[in-house]
Amino acid sequence: MKTIHKAYKFRLKPDVEQCQQFARIAGVCRLVWNLCLEQRKVVYSSRRMPLNSYRQIPEVTQLRHEYDWLREIPSQVLQQKVCDLDVAYKNFFEGHADFPERKKKGQSVDSFRFPQGFKIDNRRIFLPKIGWIGFFKSRNIKGVPKHITVSRNGKHWFVSICCEVEIANAVPKNKAAGIDMGITKLCALSDGTVIENPNITKKYKDKLVKLQRRLARKKKFSKNFYKIKAKISRLHTRIANTRRDFTHKATTGIAKNHGLVVLEDLRVKNMSKSAKGSTDNPGKMVRQMSGLNRSILDAGWGEFRCQLEYKVGWANGIVVLVDPKNTSRRCPICGYTAKENRLTQADFVCVKCGYAADADVTAAVNILRAGHARLACGEIGAVRPLREAGTLKAA
Ligand SMILES: [Zn+2]
Repeated sequence: MKTIHKAYKFRLKPDVEQCQQFARIAGVCRLVWNLCLEQRKVVYSSRRMPLNSYRQIPEVTQLRHEYDWLREIPSQVLQQKVCDLDVAYKNFFEGHADFPERKKKGQSVDSFRFPQGFKIDNRRIFLPKIGWIGFFKSRNIKGVPKHITVSRNGKHWFVSICCEVEIANAVPKNKAAGIDMGITKLCALSDGTVIENPNITKKYKDKLVKLQRRLARKKKFSKNFYKIKAKISRLHTRIANTRRDFTHKATTGIAKNHGLVVLEDLRVKNMSKSAKGSTDNPGKMVRQMSGLNRSILDAGWGEFRCQLEYKVGWANGIVVLVDPKNTSRRCPICGYTAKENRLTQADFVCVKCGYAADADVTAAVNILRAGHARLACGEIGAVRPLREAGTLKAA
């Protein structure tokens, strides 16, 4: 048996007073976040001293003794917010995210977390200092709830229950796949499978543009202005949901059938940033690139990779990342590597031996081989369980 974490998200049914309490907690969390961020910045720039939650949580606790309105907020929630800042810093230093920003009312996502003190009773949940709240239970909760997060999306509040679930130790699958992430397609697999992109944004784009135009015509901060604004935010939610569902389906399918998945180590964050160009190197083709980057982010690569990593992990498989260099230019038959092999976006034609195939699938084959090479060199620690399950063979 092994333990995994699974999150269940439901829409809450708070009454008016509970809504106000949520908004108040969210507001104080924003304030605490901003204060702690500010303090870290100031202390670092003046004394070159990094601060973390161990230093800041006692100070927040001290403030709670001084201000009544701060005491009304559950202390664990505020502590969690400070810990979130640690995570944000870590993500920044590891290159996964931008430097943490100030949270602004109405612009940042409102959320706060309870690590303990909550209770779940069928269709309602108990939160410290708030009480019982009903929620729309759309599926059964399995496992032991470890912590819960309350968040706002548009005018609705949601609860996400993170559970520890025991799953049987799966026998890893013996199939391996290289995956080439695409722009027009979501991805291509080394066995020739191509998963198309849902291209959701295009579908909703007209609708979005229309709404934004209508918003521009409304008097600012009028009743109708907020009405349209709510409509826009609902549309954004729908787009995000559709995309997430699609990505989940694709990654579940891949993880179910493959014990080894090889991906290119694309720093999505870096790629989307580089289009802006720096001052010494004002990016060439900035416009084309920013269009490209938008579709990269559209395709949700980061999300895709993240889902694959945990789903393949649940099934006791492994995900290997390889250097993306030349994967789209090398001929898998004779090894000849040149950019002339790729004269069009869609086709691969080897200049030397004449091998011709779908360009993305060819890249996926190269990626898979690079993954095997990394494993053979013993660069990946988790190779043993797979070997025990049988020989890996390329799909
Ligand atoms: Zn060739």
